[in-house]
Amino acid sequence: LVRLSHVTKRFGSFTALDDVSLDVNAGEVVVVIGASGSGKSTLCRTINRLETIDSGTIEIDGERLPEEGKDLARLRAEVGMVFQSFNLFPHRTVLDNITLAPMRVRRVPRAQAEARARELLERVGLADQASKRPTQLSGGQQQRVAIARALAMDPKVMLFDEPTSALDPEMINEVLDVIKDLASSGMTMLVVTHEMGFARSVADRVVFMDEGQIVEDAAPEQFFTAPATQRARDFLSKIL
Ligand code: ATP
Ligand code: MG
Repeated sequence: LVRLSHVTKRFGSFTALDDVSLDVNAGEVVVVIGASGSGKSTLCRTINRLETIDSGTIEIDGERLPEEGKDLARLRAEVGMVFQSFNLFPHRTVLDNITLAPMRVRRVPRAQAEARARELLERVGLADQASKRPTQLSGGQQQRVAIARALAMDPKVMLFDEPTSALDPEMINEVLDVIKDLASSGMTMLVVTHEMGFARSVADRVVFMDEGQIVEDAAPEQFFTAPATQRARDFLSKIL
């Protein structure tokens, strides 16, 4: 569903992604781990062209991602993204935050967009918060709104870039539980996270990045019990 072939991304003379090839198949959950600066966020950002790439190709559902134009906007809408910082509109209600993009970009009528938003709020456990503003919610609740907002566009794939890193510990699980639910519903996802328990239990594959390269791409059991490379062993010994 998402295919990166030999993608290289440079910032000046620094190579942030170095010949990265990766397939995320329909229904798969791929967890990306690696040290700070290894290129995880850059990887996510190139998949919906928040960053341009210097060489290689990216395909979404068989269509090559163009540099710009209408087709880019259309393909971008197939990719839902959730960041560490929730990026909600602070002066809009929770409901508005979720309905805005479907109404503007997909031309969904208001009543239909609101009905769908309420369904999604129910799904993320926030049915009773629709008329609040993001500032009136906890971090964990805000992140669940951000997930509902991404889902409202009916994306084919969801990208999560450290969705729980900005949260207080007691809120991490409520967000991970929503992501787990989504995984078991068959959503295709790429999740950057430092939550190794989550990676182990939810991932179909673990991708380990170091210095802009994919160093390992393995089943979680294999990766966590018998990593193939010294770089992965060094990383795991620091965090486990
Ligand atoms: P973290 O775990 O800290 O989020 P990461 O694996 O997500 O790290 P990236 O944010 O992808 O790492 O950054 C990879 C490298 O690219 C870093 O060395 C970073 O300094 C560099 N980089 C990222 N964005 C830019 C930019 N806009 N301009 C210059 N360098 C950048
Ligand atoms: Mg990052």
